[in-house]
Amino acid sequence: LKENNARHLWHPMAHPADSLANPPDIIVGGEGVEITDVDGFRSVDAVGGLWNVNLGYSCQPVKDAITAQLDKLPYYSIFRGTSNDAVIELSWMLKEFFAPDGLSRAFFTSGGSDSVEVSLRLARQYHKVRGEAGRTKFLSLKKGYHGTHTLGASVNGNANFRTQYEPLMAGCFHIPAPYTYRNPFNETDPERLAQMCLAALEDEIAFQGAGTIAAFIMEPVLGAGGVIPPHESFMPGVREICDRNGILLIADEVITAFGRTGDWTGSRHWGVQPDMACTAKAITNGYFPFGAVMLSDKIVEVFESDTSGKASIGSGYTYSGHPVGAAAAIACLKETERLSVKDNAAARGAQLFDGLKALQAKFELIGDVRGGHGLMCALELVSDRASKTAIDKKTVGRIHRATYEAGAMVRVSGPNIILSPPLVLTAAHVDTILSALDAGFASVA
Ligand code: PMP
Repeated sequence: LKENNARHLWHPMAHPADSLANPPDIIVGGEGVEITDVDGFRSVDAVGGLWNVNLGYSCQPVKDAITAQLDKLPYYSIFRGTSNDAVIELSWMLKEFFAPDGLSRAFFTSGGSDSVEVSLRLARQYHKVRGEAGRTKFLSLKKGYHGTHTLGASVNGNANFRTQYEPLMAGCFHIPAPYTYRNPFNETDPERLAQMCLAALEDEIAFQGAGTIAAFIMEPVLGAGGVIPPHESFMPGVREICDRNGILLIADEVITAFGRTGDWTGSRHWGVQPDMACTAKAITNGYFPFGAVMLSDKIVEVFESDTSGKASIGSGYTYSGHPVGAAAAIACLKETERLSVKDNAAARGAQLFDGLKALQAKFELIGDVRGGHGLMCALELVSDRASKTAIDKKTVGRIHRATYEAGAMVRVSGPNIILSPPLVLTAAHVDTILSALDAGFASVA
């Protein structure tokens, strides 16, 4: 197994040769919030799959729903007006779930990158249908992550995720993120920094010309960029600027929807109603590849009122609204609400965040601790706190390995250790993650 894993499987976001030099762990089992590797070693999955396994690995109602749907109707497309009963029920549940966010209709996809792609396409199409065909550009945040498809990659804020594939889509511009630990303004006060980033957004809009911009896309709490929660004034400020300039606001909620931030959606955390929200990941908790873009009435009304025929062509996937995915999503949503996982995310997230700050007091390598919004936390590692010099890859790798051997799988992303465990974990699991990290850091101290 290990040999085949190294030779015949390309691991995304890993060097093609890494798996030969240092075989990654092969996970063969999952139960509750724990995973078991090929050598029989069990650990708490502090990554939660990939920010998505909110309900853990043994959610019986989801398994039952998938099996029942496979027996009933394994597939039928929702292209050109046909439908299936599972996806209709899910649409109704999603409109109830997203009602406080002002989102009422679902466009189904097969995952997060698809959801981003669809939202950006719909944004351009929306303006075209309204007779504003000149609105084609997109704005986003440096450090933002929006998947791997061409439009999504073009709005990715991290240049490493763009430059190798260029030329990507023209007309995408990136605004400084409200990232207090490092920013071009050298500003350490989160509120003042948020105002500076908003001013930069206004400047960019003025420079490009408001009438050329289709949409601004942002994660309510930036995830893959290293867990960057903006100041509470930031997203409301973005909403106001977008409204004033006729620009759509797309919330990329691929990580943040369904309870991870301690509220049901990331946007709700900041009291903002976006025009569209991209979802995927926890919508099916990893049990099936699935996603949905949630749309506001404002968007739907424009498409419904179109008489030119333009509104009906464009995006859509063979697996849009897959009945098995829909059945999985219905069961996940029911469990998510029944267990009110957002409350546990808030409580356990606070415990984890406090514990990480205690680790920072103990280990010099921890330059910054970010979190405080549910179960999304990150440690940014530095070799020197004063100069904030990023730590070398080898040391992070050693910490990662030692933490795993002490009982917790964490995620390394550049100089960051990212924690996004299932939302159903207990206080004891959080203690296990913290003590494993303690051992991980002690191993290089
Ligand atoms: N948007 C965000 C905010 C994400 O974090 C991700 C994936 N980590 C994506 C989009 C892309 O999702 P997927 O990997 O399911 O295509």
